[in-house]
Amino acid sequence: MSSGDNILKILVVGSVAYDAVETPAGKRESQLGGAATYFSVAASYFTEVGMIGVVGDDFDPADIAMLESHDIDISGLIKADGKTFRWTGEYMEDINTAVTLDTQLNVFGSFEPELSDAHANAPYLFLANIDPNLQLKVLDAMANRPKMVANDTMNLWIDIAKPALSELISKVDALLINEEEAKQLTGEDHLPDAASAITGMGPSSTVIKRGEYGATLFGENFSFAAPAYPLERVVDPTGAGDSFAGGFMGYLASVDKVDQESLRTAAIVGSTMASFAVEDFGLDRTKNLTHSDIAERFEAFVDLTRFNPLT
Ligand code: AMP
Repeated sequence: MSSGDNILKILVVGSVAYDAVETPAGKRESQLGGAATYFSVAASYFTEVGMIGVVGDDFDPADIAMLESHDIDISGLIKADGKTFRWTGEYMEDINTAVTLDTQLNVFGSFEPELSDAHANAPYLFLANIDPNLQLKVLDAMANRPKMVANDTMNLWIDIAKPALSELISKVDALLINEEEAKQLTGEDHLPDAASAITGMGPSSTVIKRGEYGATLFGENFSFAAPAYPLERVVDPTGAGDSFAGGFMGYLASVDKVDQESLRTAAIVGSTMASFAVEDFGLDRTKNLTHSDIAERFEAFVDLTRFNPLT
């Protein structure tokens, strides 16, 4: 099958999780989360997404039904004996920074991804946050080099799997990463220096996410600043980065272009989806959006960043 015939536009691999989360707005003991989950639901509003991942025998059928209700292809989401990946985190003093209290890989510890033809021919690939060795396996299993490959990561993997992560970053077109993690990865304290160090590692685009301060896209010979939406109340920042990535990649796959103009718009679509993610716990807001909610919030961004040229 050529990628033109493939109905699957984006393939994503990454964590599918139950999270225990505490924020200044409250506490949840076990909510559906995971990088691939947030990514897929956000991207599903723009294009056809397929997930590669694993859940345990504790995974709630209602969560499967929610993913299916978004037309997400979950044929690559395997159910294994054992427990679903579990992350415990809190955002207390600084709402922009998650403090990890516990990470249990559980069924992800021994997961071997298997890709169908449709998966292996997807033209866009997002390697969401998970062990970089697993991200590399999925990249290697693609039948053709996708038009665009992007990845995300976090401090745990920089700490324990840096060689594999560096190899992966040398092979992707775009890295999406939090500010603190970009600094940790490169050893640079200054954002543009961190971005150019990342460019030196391979990717032609780097998106540095800065929580309530928005995201900056460093592309080939340009950079672009996407603000965060000025919400009065952030309930739960979990998944903001993955929802940004879902909007960003979902939009690029839907227009099937990765030029400068599309990348700029994609960064605003990403900020739009991130703004919904933080308005409620977990996926509670993101899973119930309409296309007009998204269009309205996108227009609010256009207004937020509109200004006249100097005369
Ligand atoms: P973010 O979009 O950065 O807020 O990502 C939030 C999601 O990342 C949570 O739902 C967690 O389940 C997941 N997560 C946390 N730690 C890890 C990890 N080490 N590897 C993969 N996913 C993780």
